[in-house]
Amino acid sequence: MRRVSILGATGSIGQNTLDLIRRAPGEFQVVALTGGHNIAQLAEDARQSRAEFAATAYPELLEDLQAALAGSGIQVAAGKAALIEAAQRPADWIMSAIVGVAGLAPGLAALEQGGTLALANKESLVTAGPLLLATAARHGARILPVDSEHSAIFQALIGEDRAAVERVIITASGGAFRDRPLGDLAHAGVAEASTHPNWDMGQRITIDSASMFNKALEVIEAKEFFALDPDQIEVLVHPQSTVHALVGFRDGALMAHVGPPDMRHAIGYALNWPDRRDLPVARLDLAAIGRLDFALPDPARYPALALAWQVMHVGGHAGAIFNAAKERALDHFIAGHIGFLEMSALVARTLDNGLRDAQTGEITLESVRRCDHLTRQQMDRLIAA
Ligand code: NDP
Repeated sequence: MRRVSILGATGSIGQNTLDLIRRAPGEFQVVALTGGHNIAQLAEDARQSRAEFAATAYPELLEDLQAALAGSGIQVAAGKAALIEAAQRPADWIMSAIVGVAGLAPGLAALEQGGTLALANKESLVTAGPLLLATAARHGARILPVDSEHSAIFQALIGEDRAAVERVIITASGGAFRDRPLGDLAHAGVAEASTHPNWDMGQRITIDSASMFNKALEVIEAKEFFALDPDQIEVLVHPQSTVHALVGFRDGALMAHVGPPDMRHAIGYALNWPDRRDLPVARLDLAAIGRLDFALPDPARYPALALAWQVMHVGGHAGAIFNAAKERALDHFIAGHIGFLEMSALVARTLDNGLRDAQTGEITLESVRRCDHLTRQQMDRLIAA
C-alpha cells in the first residue's frame, strides 16, 4: 500500500484527491491530513480514511479537533508546526494543496522526505521556485504538477527532447467576467467573481481566474517548473476549457492536451504516475462540443496578466512580492474594502515599489517570508491611504 498525505485536505483539491483515494480501496494508506477552519470536514475525512494524524493550521481550533476525533485513536495537532509535522510523516506521495504562500513551508518539509510531491500549490513555485527545485534535487524528491495546464504540458513533453520545445501555450477560460461589458467591471462584486463558468474550485482561485491573477501565477509557475524563457510562454482565452495547454516544437507541431474540466484528471494522473489508470472523469464527445475557440486575452480586461512578464524578467524575489501583493489585494476585495479592478492597480503599484530590491539575495524560506510580510504591510498602507 502506498502511504499518502494531503496538505489542504479540506479544500477543493484535497476533497477531489480524497475522492480518488476512496475509489481505490486497499491501494492507499492515508498518513496525515491537514485543514484550516473546516474542522468538521477534517475530522470526518480523518475518520473515514483512517488517517494516522490530523492537523489544523489554527491553534485556537485544537480543542474542537480533539473533541471531533475523540476516541478515534487519530493523533491530533494544531498550528504551523503541526502542518510541518504532517508533511514530515513518512509518506510516498504528498499532495500540496494548501492555498497561498502558507503552503510553501509544508511543501518544502515534504520534499525533504525524498518522495513525490504532487504540487497544486502554485504559490510555492511562484514565490520560491529555485528553492523548491533545489530542495527536491538535494533530497532526490520528485515534483509532479497538478495544475491542469502544467499537468497537460508535462504530459505533452513525455518522450520529447526538451531542446526541441519552441513555445508553450497555456489556455484560460476567461473567468466569470469574460463577456461582461468592460465598464461594469469596476463594480463587480465578490459573489459574482466567485462563480466560474467551467471549473468548480476554491473561492480564492475562482476570483483569481476572473482577474487572471491565477493565469499570471500559472505563467510564472510554468517558467519555473519547465525552465522556460518568459517569451516562450503564451496565453490564449479558450472558453470551453477543454484544451488545457499546448506545447509547440521547433518543427511547427503543436501537441495539445484535451480533456474535461475536472481536476480529478490532473490529480489522478499525479496519483497514478507513471501509470495511467481508470479515472472517473467524463469522456469528451468532441462532435457534441462541435467547436473550440481561441482568442488573445484583452489587456484592458485582464491587466493582471502582463504583470507576470514583469515578474519573470526581474526574477529573484519578484514572485514573492507579486504573490503577497495579490493575496493581500484579494483579502481586501473579499472583505469589501476595494473594488475588483483596484486589485490589479494596487498590485502593479506595490510591485513597482518593491522591484528595486527584488533581485537581491538568495531565495530562502526566511527571505520569502520577510518579503511576503513587508509587501503585505505595504499593501495595507496603500489601501488605508
Ligand atoms: P481551497 O480554498 O478550496 O482549499 C484550501 C485548503 O487550504 C483548505 O484545506 C484550507 O483549509 C487550507 N488553508 C487555507 N488557509 C490556510 C493556511 N493559512 N494554512 C494552512 N492551511 C490553509 O483551495 P483550492 O483547493 O481551490 O486550491 C488549493 C491550491 O491548489 C491553491 O494553491 C490553488 O491555486 C491550487 N489549484 C487549485 C485548483 C482547483 O481546482 N481548486 C486547480 C489548480 C490549482 P479550510 O478550508 O479548512 O480552512
